[in-house]
Amino acid sequence: MVGPVARRPESIPGVQHRFDPRRPWFNHNGLNMFTPNTPAPNPAALAVLCDALGERAAVTAEVGPWKSGAFDLLARSGALAGFIPAADGGTGAPELAILDALVAIAARCLTTALALTQWASASRIITGSEDAVRATWLPRLAAGTVTTTVGIAQLSTSRRHLGAPALIASTAHGGWRLTGLCPWVTGADSVDAIVTGAVGQDGQQLFFIVPTDSPGLVIAPPMHMLALSGSRTSSVAFTDVAPSAVIEPRTAGGVRTGGLATTALALGSTVAALAVLEGEAVHRATLAPVAEALRAETRGIEARLRRAATDGDTNDRDRLRADANGLVIRAAQAALTATKGAGFVEGHPAARLVREAHFFLVWSCPQTVAGIALCELSRIEM
Ligand SMILES: Cc1cc2nc3c(=O)[nH]c(=O)nc-3n(C[C@H](O)[C@H](O)[C@H](O)COP(=O)(O)OP(=O)(O)OC[C@H]3O[C@@H](n4cnc5c(N)ncnc54)[C@H](O)[C@@H]3O)c2cc1C
Repeated sequence: MVGPVARRPESIPGVQHRFDPRRPWFNHNGLNMFTPNTPAPNPAALAVLCDALGERAAVTAEVGPWKSGAFDLLARSGALAGFIPAADGGTGAPELAILDALVAIAARCLTTALALTQWASASRIITGSEDAVRATWLPRLAAGTVTTTVGIAQLSTSRRHLGAPALIASTAHGGWRLTGLCPWVTGADSVDAIVTGAVGQDGQQLFFIVPTDSPGLVIAPPMHMLALSGSRTSSVAFTDVAPSAVIEPRTAGGVRTGGLATTALALGSTVAALAVLEGEAVHRATLAPVAEALRAETRGIEARLRRAATDGDTNDRDRLRADANGLVIRAAQAALTATKGAGFVEGHPAARLVREAHFFLVWSCPQTVAGIALCELSRIEM
């Protein structure tokens, strides 16, 4: 098996780092983001991280969080480690704490939050692999010395109507080989490995870890999108590519769309739009009830998100995501309406937030959630 190449992040100007020598990347200015069994992130560590992410958000939107240093900040703060089980070299934070951190990060830099959720999805799939693969990848992923992302939409929400699998796995040459297309991979040109999903000869879905320098793998230039182009999302073509590891679906976490993390990001984006609206409301009393109503709705979604994470109740998840999608778009539109023409000018936060809010209509959006949105848009009774 080809192991990952250790890549130490470069130091970031203006950020002072103190490292615990045993866990060199988990402390940022002496603060660790997650403490085992504590259902919330360390507020001081989260504030330091979010301020640093906010300071470089404009650069991140241009070059992506890997080149801007934002992803290294996630590693150094201990945020990445929280997603990885303690037995695999992470700190295994409770889901509630992770969701709180995701909301706060998304409110400051949605591009970084997207890169983080794709990294987390890939890491979660790797936790379903055999011991040797876990030991090779997970401690390094927790420390941020190697990076990954996920390209699995072809198994769930992309190209499903075409009748043929986009990416095929075969064992023709005495080992697994992948051929076809992975249509969506955030950060493909910036990470060390892609976790992807393909369909085998017998129709079985399998996951694979594929280093991005593998022969036969061609990463297209990042797409220029309505928003979040800084996520450097590309399609990736595979021609007879040998993966470094296979992960059987019976142990892997499986393809999960519309999970709570996606709702957390929509909530974070809503919080950012509310901040713009509330800033305007300070000087205009007529805006106060609008801001208050949206703030109350946001608190309601947050409470449902926390309940879903605590109860493990999956029934409300699609409805929750659909409601969060509706809210994030209305909150961004309210911010734009309140900021008027000035908010429509490129460079104003309201303009960016309106564009970014629409991302939630298409990203990791299960058919049920898309169906609810289409009924609401067309005012068809469900
Ligand atoms: C910014 C961004 C980042 C993303 N990052 C990742 C990532 O890192 N990893 C990942 O796995 N995924 C990622 N995704 C993918 C995402 O989660 C969805 O899978 C994707 O948005 C689905 O869109 P699609 O165009 O591929 O869907 P498709 O279903 O392939 O639709 C494409 C087109 O096909 C036609 N069509 C669709 N359905 C039908 C039908 N039933 N009958 C006839 N025609 C039809 C329509 O014209 C449609 O425009 C990302 C998406 C975005 C926007």
